[in-house]
Amino acid sequence: MTDRSAGDEVRADGGESRPGNAGHDEWLDALADGDGYALVCPDGHGSLPPRRVCPDCGSTALSREPLPETGTVETFSVVHVPSPEFADDAPYVSAIAEFGPVRLTGVLRGVEPELDAVAVGRSVGAGVEERATDGKPLVVFRPVADDA
Ligand SMILES: [Zn+2]
Repeated sequence: MTDRSAGDEVRADGGESRPGNAGHDEWLDALADGDGYALVCPDGHGSLPPRRVCPDCGSTALSREPLPETGTVETFSVVHVPSPEFADDAPYVSAIAEFGPVRLTGVLRGVEPELDAVAVGRSVGAGVEERATDGKPLVVFRPVADDA
């Protein structure tokens, strides 16, 4: 009874090490450190890990290029009825923002989760924050001054 919790330590690896997902986790870590990057092929098509092949032209000669400091909101939606892993986050703003050659999908924080609180074309920075529901890392956008 008393020592039951001894074996319940949270695993250091977070319990998720699915093959093929490592590239994305590594990319999230880089983004969290302010070193976010895109994979860019010789033709300038951008993609994100864990891709190994350009989704546009099939090139495997992908190089890492730093993401711009700010991106632009392309589309967004206010989520009131979330999937279970976002239960404690709702309502929230799910957004897609263009950062140079790539589009990132994330949660836009720092605004009211209302349709008229967000504008397409808004400048945002990208980082990594914890999901309220379970603390898992998440791509998060925050508005930045448009005149920056
Ligand atoms: Zn390409």
